[in-house]
Amino acid sequence: MAHANVSVFIPHLGCPNNCSFCDQHIISRTQLPPAPDEAEEIIRSAAADIARKGMCQSAEIAFFGGSFTAIPREYMTALLERACLYVENGSFCGIRISTRPDCIDENILGILKKYRVTAIELGAQSMDNDVLAANRRGHTAEDVRRAAALIKQRGFELGLQMMTGLYKSTPEKDIRTGEELAELLPDTMRIYPVVILRDTYLAQLYGEGKYVPYPFDECVRVCAHLAEMFAARGIRVIRLGLHSERNVEENAVGGYYHPAFGELVRSERVRCIIERELENAGYAECAAPKRYMSILVGHRRSNSLYFEGKNVSFAQNDGLESITVNGRAYHT
Ligand code: SF4
Repeated sequence: MAHANVSVFIPHLGCPNNCSFCDQHIISRTQLPPAPDEAEEIIRSAAADIARKGMCQSAEIAFFGGSFTAIPREYMTALLERACLYVENGSFCGIRISTRPDCIDENILGILKKYRVTAIELGAQSMDNDVLAANRRGHTAEDVRRAAALIKQRGFELGLQMMTGLYKSTPEKDIRTGEELAELLPDTMRIYPVVILRDTYLAQLYGEGKYVPYPFDECVRVCAHLAEMFAARGIRVIRLGLHSERNVEENAVGGYYHPAFGELVRSERVRCIIERELENAGYAECAAPKRYMSILVGHRRSNSLYFEGKNVSFAQNDGLESITVNGRAYHT
């Protein structure tokens, strides 16, 4: 079923933390948090649109942009009160929020439950305590485990977010982080390769040559490996790479920003599948409907060039639902 969310962006509201990659100070200088009335207006107008499309059963209200459970309590409950009305009247099926692992406890979960929050996403970023400390996250891997367990015990959908390529991280540590997060049985994952934004601590380290992110291609391979591993365990990866936004494009000074990062990773996954088939069967007949052809042949035809001269064929077949290799369907 098609899915439609309405996102209400809540800037970081003087978050006391100072994570190495975060540009909260730039954002909070330029964007004010919406008053509850303004937030309700955003939700109301989205509700009308979603009702016209007949998608109320799958649409959620998403409060994103910072640590929702760390904003002033009165403001948080005022936003939830407004949003909850639109879940109760059937315009949306639930509410999603994102927050930090150390901003979750029994009391806050009780409040979220009361206001019909259905999904909680935790910014875990890494499960390596040295990486967390080096990036000034202000919480530990144990905080992630504890918060994830509480969220699941209370019956919320659990989402986890991780960041690859952080200061002091390595491909091996990123893969280990993914494996540890998978053990927490999240319903969804978001994988964000690091983007170094101007005026952040990471930008300073990068400028001084103290932080050199591992190569871009390696990052794509790590993310493809992670995506494959999550898919194999039935965990939905709902985001790969930052959304292309003007703020990010204008302020990125390094790291792994690419407007089609998700597609690069999917193509890399397909390349691994083809390689496996080639090894096992001695040939690989690949086909895809038009909408998946760019993933199959790769960015700038990287996959078709890679397999040139080998027993691999690529064909477009609009009768298919997904990419197939030697007749087997793969959902990337
Ligand atoms: S906790 Fe979130 S909002 Fe606060 S500094 Fe870290 S990333 Fe930014």
